[in-house]
Amino acid sequence: MEIKNQRYCIQEIPLLDIAKKYGTPVYLYDGNKILDQVESLKKAFSGVKMKIKYATKALSNISILKLMRKAGTGVDAVSIEEIQLCLHAGFSPEEIMYTPNGVDFEEIKKAVEMGVMVNIDNIPMLEHFGTEYGHKVPLCIRLNPHILAGGNSKISVGHIDSKFGISILQLKHVLKIVQAYELQVVGLHVHTGSDILDAEVFLKGAEILFDAAREFKGLEFLDFGGGFKVGYKEGDITTDIQEVGKKVSAAFRDFCKEYGKDLEIWFEPGKFLVSESGYLLVKANVVKPTPATTFVGVDSGLNHLLRPMMYDAYHGVVNISKLDGPERVYTIVGYICETDTIAADRKLREVKEGDVLAIKNAGAYGYSMASNYNSRYRPPEVLILDGSDYLIRKRETFEDLIRNQTVIEL
Ligand SMILES: *Cc1c(COP(=O)(O)O)cnc(C)c1O
Repeated sequence: MEIKNQRYCIQEIPLLDIAKKYGTPVYLYDGNKILDQVESLKKAFSGVKMKIKYATKALSNISILKLMRKAGTGVDAVSIEEIQLCLHAGFSPEEIMYTPNGVDFEEIKKAVEMGVMVNIDNIPMLEHFGTEYGHKVPLCIRLNPHILAGGNSKISVGHIDSKFGISILQLKHVLKIVQAYELQVVGLHVHTGSDILDAEVFLKGAEILFDAAREFKGLEFLDFGGGFKVGYKEGDITTDIQEVGKKVSAAFRDFCKEYGKDLEIWFEPGKFLVSESGYLLVKANVVKPTPATTFVGVDSGLNHLLRPMMYDAYHGVVNISKLDGPERVYTIVGYICETDTIAADRKLREVKEGDVLAIKNAGAYGYSMASNYNSRYRPPEVLILDGSDYLIRKRETFEDLIRNQTVIEL
């Protein structure tokens, strides 16, 4: 988002025009920003055989998945339904990795039948896999290296009491099962959590993964998961992807030499690829001064953007209806009937009823976590690509709310 001709624009298209054309609230994505992020990740790892497996759960609109496919990424899916969406968007089964947690073995079988590689995350499922497929179906194993990383306990997935992955301390047990069933382990995976700051955490994870990898013959790739930190707040420290690329690539090349084979290095970024591309445009319904603060009540809330309430996440907010004049401090709140703070104590250009606010960093875990709470419709999604805007999902209607309800005679 930048100011052009006194208006906030994405690729020359004024955001206010988008708000007028599609109504508010509306999710808006800058497709070219997504492509830029893919390119910068590719560039950072240009010295090694790197594959991107976009974490579908961050933003799973079919047009976004198609855009990823066009940019040359694969995908990581965490449910059968996400696999179906990825297939629907044109990905071939070989481009999809299935990383489930706590699912029934039936789901794992289904993924195998669909031709998708499964990333096994616990010992009982590894044994089921061995019993069912033996050496016939290649698989990946998700390890938990017990590295504490991540900005919020709900998204830290590598620590000792996390439910994710097979503890690195259980590696001996894993190897026994692998031997007993002659499992064809082609990949090892770690995902240490979201909001990883720097190369050091990745390198720490890498060392543990390399140690484990030495115990496996026939590996084809090592998967380092996602979790690159993106800037939400002005002045936030973000992952320097080029530096991470340089350091991790060097360590990876050394390991490959020792292993005796040019392995692939995989990443599964969600936030890094789509977070900054996204905006949620909302309208100020009411400006409400109170003795404590001045609230701005907007036509959206935690039903559409859960992150502030769920993760205490910071999202920048800009009054795009006003380019100059004095700034005032506001607390921006949603219309949901419970505490629903989107952004507290923020300086915005003076807000008037009807002004449009842009909530930033809404691309990842925005729409994909949206619900119909309070029986509100979910907003439309609009993609701006190469200077044109496309409606990629319609606003819901009353029909959508009642679609699956069966009405009994009373
Ligand atoms: C959620 C998830 C990711 C993506 O995490 P980001 O923080 O969005 O990069 C990657 N891999 C797995 C297995 C995940 O569950």
